[in-house]
Amino acid sequence: RFEGITMAPPDPILGVSEAFKADNDEKKLNLGVGAYRTEELQPYVLNVVKKAENLMLERGEYKEYLPIEGLAAFNKVTAELLLGADNTVIKQQRVATVQGLSGTGSLRLAAALIERYFPGAKVLISSPTWGNHKNIFNDARVPWSEYRYYDPKTVGLDFEGMIADLKAAPEGSFILLHGCAHNPTGIDPTPEQWEKIADVIQEKNHIPFFDVAYQGFASGSLDADAASVRLFAARGMELLVAQSYSKNLGLYAERIGAINVICSSVDAAARVKSQLKRLARPMYSNPPVHGARIVANVVGDPTLFDEWKAEMDMMAGRIKGVRQKLFDSLSAKDKSGKDWSLYKADWHVLLHRIEQSSVKIQRKPTSRSNKKKESENMTNKWHVYMTKDGRISLAGLNLAKCEYLADAIVDSYHN
Ligand code: PMP
Repeated sequence: RFEGITMAPPDPILGVSEAFKADNDEKKLNLGVGAYRTEELQPYVLNVVKKAENLMLERGEYKEYLPIEGLAAFNKVTAELLLGADNTVIKQQRVATVQGLSGTGSLRLAAALIERYFPGAKVLISSPTWGNHKNIFNDARVPWSEYRYYDPKTVGLDFEGMIADLKAAPEGSFILLHGCAHNPTGIDPTPEQWEKIADVIQEKNHIPFFDVAYQGFASGSLDADAASVRLFAARGMELLVAQSYSKNLGLYAERIGAINVICSSVDAAARVKSQLKRLARPMYSNPPVHGARIVANVVGDPTLFDEWKAEMDMMAGRIKGVRQKLFDSLSAKDKSGKDWSLYKADWHVLLHRIEQSSVKIQRKPTSRSNKKKESENMTNKWHVYMTKDGRISLAGLNLAKCEYLADAIVDSYHN
């Protein structure tokens, strides 16, 4: 009976790592998955994480089941980190927070809530977006469509297109927004644009649904990176926010994140939370405790919290250096007279970001197949592994490899 099952295609992002592993060339470089590496291209465990883990050992913390909604101390600090501890919605207890299986699992739980309580409602996602968004809504059987976001002509935000598409969407749609460091473009709306987006969402009775996977990495400030979410919350709107600690605390494999639902009343928040728990129970019963304790210890302790911010600055600084070196190398190597200043302009905007550092290697108006050909050349000829949409993760690049990567990009761009 299993004979009838066909082979699934490799995942467009995680499949890149599988292909990378199978390549024996010593020049190979994995810029596909967005994981931070050191200058030696080694995985990095934050010192604050090690300290938090030591604390857990010293305290002899046990491993019994968490409640379905997760660790209370984690849920408290994660909502506070997102919204600010003195936010009215927190004081009024209008936020339903449930610990999720990192960003993905939290998005998936929210998708299940939408499917069950808003049958037929549509989710609008940006074009382009992180590839897994589509899978999540497909598997949750939630209909989705795209709104315009990236404009290749300006290498910026297609703000008019975005607003028009939000206006044209059926009333009461869910609008998926990247809280900061939009993946893959790295382009975020300005504060003024966020206000206008909020205006349209309110006019159309849409429900904002934020995905916050890079808090602390876009602007270098945890508060500033949550400003988009806080702006919507301050308007008294109901909204959903999925959070991830994969990147900012380097907790990728611990699968730690949360889904927050800001409701209009304390009663509604309690009811929503009860339903999120009901949805979680048959899916995975209850979430893992290890990452939740790490976050609770780091975010909840003023000394460790400051150390965390310093470590985030260090990671962001390394990436910034790599970005500059790559730009310099590209400018020096490309003898075609091509103006790389677009990239430079783009990178300056993105300079202090991490994997948001998604860089389009391809600006000329060519067909989709050409774009694919370019990334294939990068991989097949140069052993540089990346996603087919032309995004590279600068978090996985080091100074030593910048020249080599610039050679690969120039060759792939022109041939
Ligand atoms: N949303 C976006 C936009 C992301 O880039 C990512 C990570 N690449 C995630 C969510 C979720 O990642 P995780 O499940 O590891 O938290």
